[in-house]
Amino acid sequence: MSLGGLLMNTYPPQPVTFVRGEGTLLWDEDGRRYLDFFSGVAVTSLGHSHPAVADAVAEQARTLLHVSNHFATTVAPEVAATLDRLIMGPGGSHGKVFFCNSGAEANECAIKLARKRGGPGRHVVVSAYGSFHGRTLATLHATGQPAKHEAFQPLPEGFVHAAWCDVAAFDAAVDESVAAVLLEPVLGEGGVHPATAEFFAAVRRICDDRGALLMIDEIQTGLGRTGRWFGFQHFGIEPDVVTMAKALGNGVPIGACWAADEVAAAFAVGDHATTFGGQPFATSAARAVLAAMEEADIPARAVAAGARLADGLASIPGVRSVRGLGLLLAAELEAPLEAKEVASRALQGGLVVNPVTDSALRLAPPLLVSDDEIDEGLVILRRALETGALSP
Ligand SMILES: *Cc1c(COP(=O)(O)O)cnc(C)c1O
Repeated sequence: MSLGGLLMNTYPPQPVTFVRGEGTLLWDEDGRRYLDFFSGVAVTSLGHSHPAVADAVAEQARTLLHVSNHFATTVAPEVAATLDRLIMGPGGSHGKVFFCNSGAEANECAIKLARKRGGPGRHVVVSAYGSFHGRTLATLHATGQPAKHEAFQPLPEGFVHAAWCDVAAFDAAVDESVAAVLLEPVLGEGGVHPATAEFFAAVRRICDDRGALLMIDEIQTGLGRTGRWFGFQHFGIEPDVVTMAKALGNGVPIGACWAADEVAAAFAVGDHATTFGGQPFATSAARAVLAAMEEADIPARAVAAGARLADGLASIPGVRSVRGLGLLLAAELEAPLEAKEVASRALQGGLVVNPVTDSALRLAPPLLVSDDEIDEGLVILRRALETGALSP
């Protein structure tokens, strides 16, 4: 029996044990090399073992890891200032940041902030069917996948879902009980479906008309992944709240909830807290990540590499269509190809990709992926699709 027998049975069988990573590459315990086109669910956007991040956390570990939020530290305010600038552009403070440890916690913060601001009678959060917002009880209810709710009823009250990209459905759902609308710019776990500028503009208008907040879940799309710093920036709207996590620490757990100044003002001392959030260890990783990303102009790299990967995917027999933004892509496969089977064959060929639905592969390589690595990945995938056609 493997050592994994002592871990709770919440994940499907894990086919490979990885022991080392560098850039786009991973090695398993037998020394086999793989190309990582999944980045640990869009987390290691700068690639594995990025030297600037490794140096920053090693240095911080020898300086100061944690003192609690009873005392001030120097790193978190710096990271907050950078995030504020990347979200809203240069020129003064536009908003404030709460640091936490994960994506779900960032959304919990956003939901509590919306409820505090909304006050009694205005506490409902509207999100989209097919969305994913986390696995805590509240964020699970915000997640628009009713099948995931069933075993955990009763979930916290005050969550409503409307059809993705359906303006009329959101128009009908947002009444005076609604504190906020919570949207991903691209449904990530839901199959990599980008929103449209029209939809985001319409929801922005609906929220403004009814006094509801527009909160954007950038946990998967944020920090360059889609070819802009944040996914909402494709759609020409200004958000009230932005949540992020995955790529912010390049593997060090950290989440953040940004809110415009007048919205953040709803929180008073004691309204929200976390033991670890904002500590020097995690924020020093984020500071190094953001500096490395700005230096490399990472959104531009996501655009260029994303175009090369999307073009290559579209030319592979067995790929019916390609969708996504930047380097958050999905390849929809021709029937009867099964994404799980093809992903498993790709893994045997040395390429990590994710079967995001029964019929689509998600590709989210590090944003520093080289042209040669993209081309090598495409060759492996082409072979996996040839043999994948034999699945029963
Ligand atoms: C991953 C993800 C979350 C949850 O993040 P955790 O760190 O797993 O809690 C929430 N929203 C979106 C869009 C995500 O992709």
